[in-house]
Amino acid sequence: MTDPYPPLKSTPASAIDLAFPTLKPAQIERMAAQGRIREVQRGEVLVEAGEKSTRFFVVKTGQVEVVQSSGGTEKPVALFLPGQFTGEISILFGRRILVRVRAKEAGEVIEIDREHLLGLVQTDGELGEIFMRAFILRRVELIAQGFGDVVVLGSSHSPNTLRIKEFLTRNGHPYSYIDLDRDAGVQDLLDHFQVAVNDVPVVICRSDVVLRNPANEQIADCLGFNETIDQTRLRDVVIVGAGPAGLAAAVYAASEGLDVLVLESNAPGGQAGSSSKIENYLGFPTGISGQELATRAYTQAQKFGAQLIIARGAKALICDRKPYAIEIDEGSRVPARSIIIAAGAHYRKLPLDNLSQFEGCGVYYAATFVESQLCGGEEVIVVGGGNSAGQAAVFLAQSARCVHLIIRSDGLADSMSRYLIRRIEETPAIVLRPHTEITSLEGGDHLESVRWRDSESQNVETRQIRHVFVMTGAIPNTLWLDGCVALDANGFIKTGQALSQDDLAAADWPLLRSPYLLETSLPGVFAVGDVRGGNIKRVASAVGEGSIAIAFVHQVLHE
Ligand SMILES: Cc1cc2nc3c(=O)[nH]c(=O)nc-3n(C[C@H](O)[C@H](O)[C@H](O)COP(=O)(O)OP(=O)(O)OC[C@H]3O[C@@H](n4cnc5c(N)ncnc54)[C@H](O)[C@@H]3O)c2cc1C
Repeated sequence: MTDPYPPLKSTPASAIDLAFPTLKPAQIERMAAQGRIREVQRGEVLVEAGEKSTRFFVVKTGQVEVVQSSGGTEKPVALFLPGQFTGEISILFGRRILVRVRAKEAGEVIEIDREHLLGLVQTDGELGEIFMRAFILRRVELIAQGFGDVVVLGSSHSPNTLRIKEFLTRNGHPYSYIDLDRDAGVQDLLDHFQVAVNDVPVVICRSDVVLRNPANEQIADCLGFNETIDQTRLRDVVIVGAGPAGLAAAVYAASEGLDVLVLESNAPGGQAGSSSKIENYLGFPTGISGQELATRAYTQAQKFGAQLIIARGAKALICDRKPYAIEIDEGSRVPARSIIIAAGAHYRKLPLDNLSQFEGCGVYYAATFVESQLCGGEEVIVVGGGNSAGQAAVFLAQSARCVHLIIRSDGLADSMSRYLIRRIEETPAIVLRPHTEITSLEGGDHLESVRWRDSESQNVETRQIRHVFVMTGAIPNTLWLDGCVALDANGFIKTGQALSQDDLAAADWPLLRSPYLLETSLPGVFAVGDVRGGNIKRVASAVGEGSIAIAFVHQVLHE
């Protein structure tokens, strides 16, 4: 890359060649066989910002540049010389491209469409690796440089602002943020778009569409995250949930040639996506953030051809006839030969009357970079004695002044991994408060103070603390199943040998064989990961179960 293109921010010098590699002549020949060679004129726009990303280019001669244009001005992003190729991760997902691609000098390019690229990535190991790595590194770089097509205008007092920032971050979509509480000049911008104060947060999408306090689904639609769902196509398997379990199932199913659709009500990654650092997942000795793990898995599933739909969840399972179907919205159903329920769990809430008043503006259920930015240098509370609470405490202690770790029991030994307990003991900024419970929250637009009680000494203390992270055990996401499959007393799905004769009789189990491992009381419907009764709540077990379920899906499809 040469001036005036910006130096890479997030990519170390050694990785620049990986993000912007120059293909060898033999590799260019293989690319040429997949596309068409065409001449380009100086200044010719090859792809316009906002278009669906369906083509990319290898430069044979001449130069191709990438620029970001906004309000009539252009910012250079990258320059591609002969042997280099355009494109970033949006082409794998078929999403809208964030930048304009233009011939800087006349020359010749190889134009390749998305279908051929996806084929290449799956069949040509060498080129597949070069492209995947370059596309991911380029997206990371776009995020680091803030080159996006989305502006969020919000307030730290608004739970919806946090929701939208999290949604964009967890979908790996770059955005700029303007804090209305801090940026006085922003009123002109709001007037320009005729936005009233109660419309906040406002999302300016693709530089022109103005969305007022949009639902995640509206943002996904505007940014073109999802392709249309063909409701007439009978899928081999529909997977509900794109946490570690659902994504693993998608990778194995698609790589083994099954026609797969994944429905995710929020963003890929599930609970693991809200973890700042997962240190006990095999193969990552220095740990990996949940966000990064989710992005890799999501890309991997796309690479094998799974279709993933974001911000549109399953509303109901239609189980009274075959083929089964998943209802997404009123009147919109996807039929399936088999179904994998990987809907996971969400956090239990604290039994406090005014809790909802502070959710998103003082009370949080995730501790990622987004939340940590809200409470730098302040005192915070983490509630819970499990591994997720331990991780949150250790992570937040890096930026907060003091972290009070509040637990009801006497200690952490029974509920937390030894390595985390040791790290907590070694971190002076973390204060463990055993046999303690929060009894009230106070504040206005934002949480201002917290009262807790020590159940041993009966001491009650009130502190001016503005941030509470709640990580206190899980509730399964099974309400939408509405009696279709047998659940245990806590609402988790029963599978395999956990299903008693009574369960099977009540469900009218129609087959001579017993349910397979991970199969529910409904033949051909499986449950994996945290949503399953008896599951060990770990990323590794979710991934393991997701992959194992596919072996049984093959058997069901052959029955
Ligand atoms: C903060 C935190 C830190 C953690 N750290 C670790 C760790 O270090 N190591 C470890 O091993 N484990 C860790 N865990 C536990 C681990 O993340 C979970 O065990 C794992 O994510 C479970 O995966 P899952 O796919 O079964 O469910 P989930 O991760 O819960 O994913 C389920 C997905 O389904 C979606 N969904 C729900 N309902 C629907 C619907 N109706 N339609 C469509 N989609 C739906 C949800 O939005 C979600 O994305 C941590 C958990 C948390 C919260």
